[in-house]
Amino acid sequence: MNGISGKVALVTGAGSGIGRATAVAFGEAGATVAAADVDEAAATETARLVEEAGGEAAAFHVDVSDEDSVAALVESVVDRFGGLDFAHNNAGIEGEGGPVAEQTLENWDRVIDVNLRGVFLGMKHEIPRIRERGGGAIVNTASVAGLVGAAGLSPYYASKHGVVGLTKSAAAEVAEDGIRVNAVCPGVVDTPMVGRFTEGNEEAMTALVEPQAMKRPADPAEIAAAVVWLCADDSSFVTGVPLPVDGGYVAQ
Ligand code: NAD
Repeated sequence: MNGISGKVALVTGAGSGIGRATAVAFGEAGATVAAADVDEAAATETARLVEEAGGEAAAFHVDVSDEDSVAALVESVVDRFGGLDFAHNNAGIEGEGGPVAEQTLENWDRVIDVNLRGVFLGMKHEIPRIRERGGGAIVNTASVAGLVGAAGLSPYYASKHGVVGLTKSAAAEVAEDGIRVNAVCPGVVDTPMVGRFTEGNEEAMTALVEPQAMKRPADPAEIAAAVVWLCADDSSFVTGVPLPVDGGYVAQ
């Protein structure tokens, strides 16, 4: 892909699943990768995988729900690599299931804090640094849960709808600075998060992917490829878009 090689890419939630796959994909495309996660050991393993794939990487600790932590992360990345060109604000949690009337305020706050406040804080601190480089790109991880509703996981769905709105608004604000802001909206992806729903049960996975036209989960690399494309020059006229990468889920 064009325009990735030699650039600096920050990925949050890089210790697992989609974030880890994106870190490796950025590395394979020639970017220098900052792999950040609340689980620093997992981020360190991701940095090792990026290096194994031929890229340059370093691991960083961050709690995306904490402003001081996010500000320190962005400064550390700039100190280490000399600037910032791309950010994938991807860290997220599923939270507890249950109908709205039975949800606890604690669960609501935690899911919104990580999934929505985390993306807001990321962009708040990344945009000035990307602007200093004369432009770049941000990709936020939303979900098909940011495009449609469903019973039983309302804090998560609300957080992801929020990410879509935040992405569109930020895109409008920074377009003239040469910064594009998009979101990926994955369907079911084969990651530890989905593993917590299916608990290794094949029937549970079959039921989960049934609404997807392709009737299979995505490999995390299939989401990573969309993220890297959304940062590359190949998508130079695409901004403010919540892109479904969902095997035909929202199409039906
Ligand atoms: P995952 O659980 O495998 O990985 C999430 C990573 O985020 C973990 O490494 C975790 O330590 C990290 N993290 C959690 N809280 C954090 C915090 N406060 N600060 C920093 N890091 C934190 O999940 P995944 O499936 O790879 O999901 C990644 C993103 O994709 C999430 O935003 C998720 O909502 C979204 N998503 C996943 C799917 C799916 O089917 N797996 C579908 C749509 C959207």
